[in-house]
Amino acid sequence: MRRFAEPAQEIDIIHETDVLVVGSGPGGLAAALSASRAGVKTTLVERFGCFGGNITTVGVEGFAWYRHEQTVEANGIGREFEERAKDMGAAVPESQSLSYELDSEGFKLVADKLVQEAGIHPMLHRMFVKPIMQGNKIVGIITESKAGREALLARIVIDATGDADVAYRAGAPTTKPPKEALQAASVMFHCAGLDKAKFMEDVKANPQTYADWSTGEWSVETDGKEDKMFSPFLKRPFEQARINGLIPADLSTISGTWGAVHDTGEMTYMNLVHLAGCDGTDPDDLTHFEIEGRKQAMLAIEALRKYAPGCEAIRLRNFGMTIGIRDTRKIDAHYNMQENDVRHQARFDDSIGIYPEFIDGYGILILPTTGRYMHIPYRSLIPKLVKGLLVVGRATGGDKVAHAATRNMACCAVSGQGAGVAAAVALKYSRDLEEINISLVQNELLRQGVRIN
Ligand SMILES: Cc1cc2nc3c(=O)[nH]c(=O)nc-3n(C[C@H](O)[C@H](O)[C@H](O)COP(=O)(O)OP(=O)(O)OC[C@H]3O[C@@H](n4cnc5c(N)ncnc54)[C@H](O)[C@@H]3O)c2cc1C
Repeated sequence: MRRFAEPAQEIDIIHETDVLVVGSGPGGLAAALSASRAGVKTTLVERFGCFGGNITTVGVEGFAWYRHEQTVEANGIGREFEERAKDMGAAVPESQSLSYELDSEGFKLVADKLVQEAGIHPMLHRMFVKPIMQGNKIVGIITESKAGREALLARIVIDATGDADVAYRAGAPTTKPPKEALQAASVMFHCAGLDKAKFMEDVKANPQTYADWSTGEWSVETDGKEDKMFSPFLKRPFEQARINGLIPADLSTISGTWGAVHDTGEMTYMNLVHLAGCDGTDPDDLTHFEIEGRKQAMLAIEALRKYAPGCEAIRLRNFGMTIGIRDTRKIDAHYNMQENDVRHQARFDDSIGIYPEFIDGYGILILPTTGRYMHIPYRSLIPKLVKGLLVVGRATGGDKVAHAATRNMACCAVSGQGAGVAAAVALKYSRDLEEINISLVQNELLRQGVRIN
């Protein structure tokens, strides 16, 4: 490949803060809120024009669809997202659980309000491109935007980009599964024009279960207890469309779940398009699969119109602002969570919160219907080799099956809230992130309403 030597340049230092959070998904939003509420100056940087990450930019609305009567919850900021959304009319009851589905558009306003109330300094439309390092310690970041390149300084940085962008560029060891082994990406969409009564009549007449996930393209391991439980799963219309040549016979990955159906005729959080082999850190892959995903979404809508009762008049309302990426880089952390931890209720002295036994991904679906739960250890947020940095959300340290649990949004809020508080405690007591007194972190988390044991 031909090369170009980019000239060095001086840039403005436009901002200085105590805790700088990069990325505002459930992990980053929770981190910024908890740090600010713990009393340190906090800044939240986001490349897009809204906070919320996958919730708002991709349209992932199923925040706690795992919750059943006996589920033991972390509480804290994750629960607050749901409660605040409910209060602001940005959530509706979820169809398969005792939870609320977030409204991806309305949650933009919820996030704005939370950020403003907490006194966080908001910086939208700035993309992190490079860390500012002093030796092996990160002391700030460089962003790119319409204003060009700018420097932001911070005493502690929290990487909530989902892709471990900051950790990776700062030189922390990360891993990424080979393309073929990555979880599929999805182009998400929402529809309008549904005859809700007719659709729900058909759902009741032909109830789908989690066992139905296992037929055709995918096989899903459950505990058995999930197999007879209702799932808002759609498969038949697409089978019919393949038989009749509306969907190519070899395109067997169109099927999946619907999210909410509204009295106004909207069908939201349509999770029907699954794109294998998309590396979310490669813009060429992202380009290809955005276009391919939109094409497949329109095939799915066409099939629903023809073969799903109540959907005869549906039309595309909108795509997510960006393709949904489930799986990319993870850090090699001081402790990497293991399959055994998430399957067998791990307990850790440095717990920063609990998460119910909910494993969803890599061909496994286990729901927390029995009250089992695990601890999330603080050490899984600390990257190796780089100081002054914590990583939250779906890029924390862990193996494949551990990530099938920790990637879930409510768990990202747990790691986020833990990191924000840990950063605040480290600054208040002038300690390195690796050396803080964990009981001080746990006390503040308890004060903030988190269940840690
Ligand atoms: C299609 C799909 C369906 C899913 N369904 C569910 C579900 O039903 N329930 C569930 O719990 N989970 C679900 N997940 C998983 C869940 O959405 C993610 O794992 C979770 O949102 C990760 O949270 P996060 O905070 O780590 O990152 P994200 O939500 O990805 O947020 C990262 C944020 O960082 C910003 N960012 C990234 N890079 C930069 C940069 N360089 N500079 C500045 N900002 C940057 C992004 O714009 C984004 O706002 C789904 C995921 C997908 C893709």
